[in-house]
Amino acid sequence: MDTFDPSELWSLCLQEAEKNLERTEFESWLRNSSYEDINGTRMVIRFRNSFVAGHVKSRFGTMLEEIICELSGRNDLALQFVGDPAKPGPSTSEPAAPSTGNSSSPDSMYLRSNYTFDHFVVGPNNQLAHAGALAVSSDAGTTTYNPLFIYGGVGLGKTHLIQAIAHKLRSEGDGSSFRYLSTEYVVGTFIKCVLQKDYSKFRKLFQGIDYLLMDDIQFLEGKVETQEAFFHRFNELHQQGKQIVLTSDRPPHELKDLPERLISRFQWGLVADIKPPEYETRLAILMLLVRDEELDVSQEVLDFIASSIRKNVRQLSGVIHRLAAISRLTGCSIDMNMAQKEIKSTLGTISRRLTPGSITSAVAEVFEISPAQLKGKQRKRSILVPRQVAISLIRELTSMSLKDIGSFFSGRDHSTVLNSIERIQELRETDPELDRRIEEIKRKLVSI
Ligand code: ADP
Ligand code: MG
Repeated sequence: MDTFDPSELWSLCLQEAEKNLERTEFESWLRNSSYEDINGTRMVIRFRNSFVAGHVKSRFGTMLEEIICELSGRNDLALQFVGDPAKPGPSTSEPAAPSTGNSSSPDSMYLRSNYTFDHFVVGPNNQLAHAGALAVSSDAGTTTYNPLFIYGGVGLGKTHLIQAIAHKLRSEGDGSSFRYLSTEYVVGTFIKCVLQKDYSKFRKLFQGIDYLLMDDIQFLEGKVETQEAFFHRFNELHQQGKQIVLTSDRPPHELKDLPERLISRFQWGLVADIKPPEYETRLAILMLLVRDEELDVSQEVLDFIASSIRKNVRQLSGVIHRLAAISRLTGCSIDMNMAQKEIKSTLGTISRRLTPGSITSAVAEVFEISPAQLKGKQRKRSILVPRQVAISLIRELTSMSLKDIGSFFSGRDHSTVLNSIERIQELRETDPELDRRIEEIKRKLVSI
């Protein structure tokens, strides 16, 4: 958002979406939208009427939010689609919802056109997940890895890979049908069915397909009834030998509030992780992006970007897309100066979120105590250990001095801070549960 104002951001988002959609789709649903307002992190977009707004939300909402986050370099932006109620009567002629078009089955969500295997750079960080994805989309019907469960942090290519399977099935498959769904959409559909007391729409999502591709399964957490309903659909498909592919931001056993039987089913097939890419893979991804955008960027600048952004591929592509947009808007070519400014603002967005306060709140939340208790004087183990965790995370993730960290925690001295850091280092080696929780907090804080 630092680079563009919100209405500029929305028009860039539309340009990007246009590349991903068929022309008529874009014209019918998105062309006449406009940026209206921003409420904190929620951007309000207006459509011709509420019918169009609702349709856009359910079919393109996830894709548009991903594009917005990529272009703005932030991961906390959400979109709200609004429109006045549609007028009844013959005068409203809405475009009919596409029945085929982009995918082989009616309820599939939209696929981004460049999320193909051709556009996916394989490196040591994602080799297994890539091989698994390729295998399931090649040997249709054999279902050696069923389900294929791909997990990894934000922006590391899970959606890209699962959509690549869909693209491959569509372009060179043997006619197998698939459905690509975001878990949010599945949960939303389930809730609608509950309200209408009619579950046929939910069941239909899983019928008549050879492949179920379901993205971001972690959204099932806490949705007990949807889990139950999904469990039955999962079993049915599995028994019929249909291929299931799931993605998640965590491995199955780290998903919270999911019944054990569902978690164990997720582990039946192949569980493959995606890690952040190493330097060489990051550079290769950048080169691919630059080639796609037909940009002229020097090796030195690419090297600088690849060395600066390490954790998240979406940030890499975000930087390239923003540089491309700036270069088009200003007519200037992309040079080191421009790249440095962009990287600074991208990394600035992360470091602004990493304050002692935000870290303390995240720790307090995971350990289910209050931030005030964390900062206070009590020495009960149930509070002391989380406090030491907060101290060592602040040391690791910010540039605060030992002395400043000490004073943040009710005026403790710097040796207490040092002791805490050492204590946590030791504990992490002997206490896997604590280690897992610390990783969870870090993931929450650092992923953007
Ligand atoms: P996730 O679903 O894991 O959050 P995405 O699949 O949306 O992440 O990927 C984020 C961005 O990074 C996308 O633009 C995607 O094309 C790109 N990307 C991720 N991994 C790769 C890769 N190995 N090669 C090329 N592009 C990648
Ligand atoms: Mg994704």
